[in-house]
Amino acid sequence: MRTSASTQSGPVYLPLPSVQPEPVSGCRHCLELAVRRTNAVSSGDHSKATDVNVALRAHLREVHGGEE
Ligand SMILES: [Zn+2]
Repeated sequence: MRTSASTQSGPVYLPLPSVQPEPVSGCRHCLELAVRRTNAVSSGDHSKATDVNVALRAHLREVHGGEE
């Protein structure tokens, strides 16, 4: 019997993510998002930083197939 490598335990949506997703080193898209987040935080735009975190989480899930 074959077992799938990916288990489906259901998506977990956090209303207020308290842990920031980490960019994957060597990935341009991750780096770009990380830079945008850093710029947003440094300019005091926390809602924009949250948006970038959401985008980065989605990117990590879709492209890198990992958890946050
Ligand atoms: Zn990436």
